[in-house]
Amino acid sequence: MATADLSRLIEAAADTIAAHADELTALDQAIGDGDHGLNMKRGFEAVRAEADAFAAKPLPEALKAIGTKLVMTVGGASGPLFGTLFMALGKEISAGPDRATLTMAFGKAIEAVAARGKSQTGQKTMLDVLQPVHEALAEEKTAAEIVAVADRAAQATVPMKALRGRASFLGDRSIGHMDAGARSTALLVRAVAETIERHA
Ligand code: ADP
Ligand code: MG
Repeated sequence: MATADLSRLIEAAADTIAAHADELTALDQAIGDGDHGLNMKRGFEAVRAEADAFAAKPLPEALKAIGTKLVMTVGGASGPLFGTLFMALGKEISAGPDRATLTMAFGKAIEAVAARGKSQTGQKTMLDVLQPVHEALAEEKTAAEIVAVADRAAQATVPMKALRGRASFLGDRSIGHMDAGARSTALLVRAVAETIERHA
């Protein structure tokens, strides 16, 4: 991936998080502590501020550095988890990945998130979006299809009962609300997929 591409991806990711910060906050207010929008915005603005430095590195190093930055700046439960996602992706990916390599690396990165969070799909977390997106990647779905899969997967967390994170403290009362981390993950998937598609 060329330097300009990573800069564009960072801009697109930070833009969508900034544009939806209030929505993420509202979702986290319903069944969490209401900090997810601010957490994500703080983290992605910190990444945006150093976009040139990240984009100057080879992709694996850039992703590891972005992950480290997210761990340091997002905070909450989601900071270490999104940080792990990017760091593990950087560890597994090559400098100029084809789709097969990207799919493999993304799968390993999701496993790292699950290990870190002691979580799995079906527990109303970001994993409930990450996993179906990985499957769609493996099935060679188009960018538009992957975006639709991510949106549907976030929507599908509404009737779930939270079994991990703060929302799990609410038990059955967590049912009926979308998971904030699932929503932010779907937003990031859309930003990345549409940016890659537009500049492919
Ligand atoms: P906190 O819960 O500490 O306030 P955030 O509000 O930033 O942190 O993030 C909450 C999101 O993190 C949840 O919506 C969920 O998607 C995700 N999450 C929390 N715990 C876990 C876990 N153990 N495994 C996977 N994802 C998790
Ligand atoms: Mg929170």
